[in-house]
Amino acid sequence: MARCSITKAVFVCVCLFSSACKQDTNPEPTTSAAPEPTPPPAAAPAAPETRVRVAHGHGMGACEGYLFISANAIRYEDSIRPAAGPSHGFSCATKDLQKFELVDNSKGKVPGNSVGYWLNMTCPPLNNLSLVFSGPPADAKQDFLRTQQARAGKDVAPEPARPEISAETKAAGDRANYVKELFEITSDPRYPGTEQFKLLLVPTADFKNKLVGRKLVGALNRLYGWNLSEDGKWTTKQANDVMFDIVAKPNFEVEKALAAIAANRKP
Ligand SMILES: [Zn+2]
Repeated sequence: MARCSITKAVFVCVCLFSSACKQDTNPEPTTSAAPEPTPPPAAAPAAPETRVRVAHGHGMGACEGYLFISANAIRYEDSIRPAAGPSHGFSCATKDLQKFELVDNSKGKVPGNSVGYWLNMTCPPLNNLSLVFSGPPADAKQDFLRTQQARAGKDVAPEPARPEISAETKAAGDRANYVKELFEITSDPRYPGTEQFKLLLVPTADFKNKLVGRKLVGALNRLYGWNLSEDGKWTTKQANDVMFDIVAKPNFEVEKALAAIAANRKP
């Protein structure tokens, strides 16, 4: 798996910390058998959104995704190339928007090199934002014009046929996701430091494979009040729980721990 190959030490993370192995990142626990509350009166239909592709530059690199423009709000998802660490996605209600300035800096730019269509936004309490229309230059220009149309309440031209995200962008997105996961791991208050973490990877992978293989995930969930998926598609947070709360314990041994769980005891 490409995302795990950045360092050899982390290669064993295989499905431990890989979102490629996740399906539903946060399955809702279904604990309540209470009857469904009566639904509220039908809400007004959501305002139609115009989707444009933008990138957000940082001190180091950039994140990239889609901006969704409607009469009520402007929102951003850094879904193409996520920011390292916490998401840079945001939502700004139109009533809070203090500045929405579209800047055409395309004059004199080499076509296909730097297109130069920008959006500068101010929406407290968000930091001031400067976004550049991204993707193929012709599409960036079209998205710039579509944004103008959407903001002016005019008919919006059709969305460009988005090409398949390039392998290069995909790889950058994978790296960004990988960094995000590492961030989630290392910012966990239980993170024991790099050396100790490396030592925990192999037994954690072994423990996990055997838990799944011997169908002991359910028993583990009952013992710890967790909600780990039986098929091993765990979120980083969930894998952290297993690693830091069980495998990192002094005297942990895979087989002993599995035997304890099979006997409904915490290892
Ligand atoms: Zn960003």
